Amino acid sequence: MPRVHWWLSSLTSILMVAQLAPIAEAKSINPSVPEAKALGFDSTETSKSLNVAVDSQGSEDDPYLGQSPRSQVATIEAIDITVEGNRVLIRADRPLDQRSYWDRSTLAYQIEIRNAQLSRDFQRPDASDSEAISWIRTEQADSNTVMVRVMPAPQVSIGEINQPSPSLLSLELNGYQARGNLAAPNLGANLSNQRDLGDIPDGQIVIVLDPGHGGRDPGAIGIGGLSEIDIVNPMSHRVRDLLEEQGVRVIMTREDNRTMDLQPRVELANRVNANLFVSLHANAISMSRPDVNGIETYYFQTGEQLARTLHSSLLDATGGPDRGVRTARFYVLRHTQMPAVLLELGFVTGSQDARRLADPEYREVLSQAIARGILQYVRQHCPGRFC
Ligand SMILES: [Zn+2]
Repeated sequence: MPRVHWWLSSLTSILMVAQLAPIAEAKSINPSVPEAKALGFDSTETSKSLNVAVDSQGSEDDPYLGQSPRSQVATIEAIDITVEGNRVLIRADRPLDQRSYWDRSTLAYQIEIRNAQLSRDFQRPDASDSEAISWIRTEQADSNTVMVRVMPAPQVSIGEINQPSPSLLSLELNGYQARGNLAAPNLGANLSNQRDLGDIPDGQIVIVLDPGHGGRDPGAIGIGGLSEIDIVNPMSHRVRDLLEEQGVRVIMTREDNRTMDLQPRVELANRVNANLFVSLHANAISMSRPDVNGIETYYFQTGEQLARTLHSSLLDATGGPDRGVRTARFYVLRHTQMPAVLLELGFVTGSQDARRLADPEYREVLSQAIARGILQYVRQHCPGRFC
């Protein structure tokens, strides 16, 4: 039986490859695209992104291509999927040299990293935390080649591979639309009429604030090198100060710039029995989409009202653009036992947002809007100690 089964599955693989081969050969200019179409990623956006990725491979101004001395093999220490689930980060101890393409046999997007080895305590990524990725596999293909294969989820296209630093590769996944609708306009209208807001009893309300990135994870990198970490870290501290002035107890998932996995953040919030969990992020799409700007607020199940209150407060303070309140199965939203939201405060890749987010005065506006929204929610929904 096992032999027959083996034979059948081999035959199936051969047939799949045989079916694909003529399609791939029919268009030789950019062999990546037909596979992408075969996978159902047939959109202008996809083709455009793929072209960008393919074109960038051999560009003359890539400082890392072919320059790492053969004797210095890079050690790949970790591959992480970002909190938002829309980027894969590959981290090493030396400059990385990669090429990437659609792999015909697995039908996945393949990143071939030459002159590299997996670290002995290499951390494998967990695709179950990302809706944008069906699966991700890493292997030491030969003594100094590492292969990373990523199968994007349906409707998701592979975007650019950026190299925020020589030893860090960032693969963008585009087109991931969290479920849910754009916010109804006017959603904050009835909130601003609430006048009779009570005081918050000192120290009885506990908020866990989560600066979305830190340590070896810089988050998104955008226009002019603006990084997510440079935005959300100072803002988290400012929001904490503003809330503590009002008698709210704030616990940060990280006080310093250390790396924090998702699980300990959630465990912390659950352990201290926090009333609310708020994660701060800045968004990114592609460097070729400076036209995409705006604020998005995410929740999962219990966080909807908190999300709407915070989103409304942010839009009131900044004027938008409004990219909506949405649901998403982000890890920190799914596993927290209290109302939890994830704020995407603007796009580091957006021309309008990047300019504003780089400005400390604008970040102050955002910080105040977040603190105001949290206080408003607490006053309305947390009588006594319960939200
Ligand atoms: Zn983020």
